[in-house]
Amino acid sequence: MALIYSEKAAKMLLEKGIKPSPIRLKVLTFLLKNPTHPTADEIYQELQKEILTLSKTSVYNALSLFLRLNLVKSVNIDEKETRYDANIEEHGHFQCLSCKQIYDFFHVPRLEEKEELNDFMIKEKRYYYYGLCPECQQKEENNEKFNWNKNS
Ligand SMILES: [Zn+2]
Ligand SMILES: [Zn+2]
Repeated sequence: MALIYSEKAAKMLLEKGIKPSPIRLKVLTFLLKNPTHPTADEIYQELQKEILTLSKTSVYNALSLFLRLNLVKSVNIDEKETRYDANIEEHGHFQCLSCKQIYDFFHVPRLEEKEELNDFMIKEKRYYYYGLCPECQQKEENNEKFNWNKNS
């Protein structure tokens, strides 16, 4: 499986006319393999295990190159940290406020764009939703039941 991802990464870089240097390859392969929207720091921490000489700057450089080439997208659902997504298909993100996990959703509600935006050129649309994932909702419910039982 790992081979397939790295082959795909190499192909993506070559198609953009970019030399698939080892670090670029590793970073892009990691993003393809881990669609969990990792931060630059998380990518660095993981790849450092394989490439001991890896610098944070080289990870950031690779990521900003990928962004410019539209190979990856940045996800700023978490205001504190930029996350990266190798899925560049238009989709929305839902972040659970409790466990912080980010979920993709692909059926984004289409807002009707009427006269209001007629004079604007739309280049990108972002959909960020916040709430509780099913698991965390369940946990909250159980806690409430527990507390209620205690009080009665
Ligand atoms: Zn959750
Ligand atoms: Zn995503």
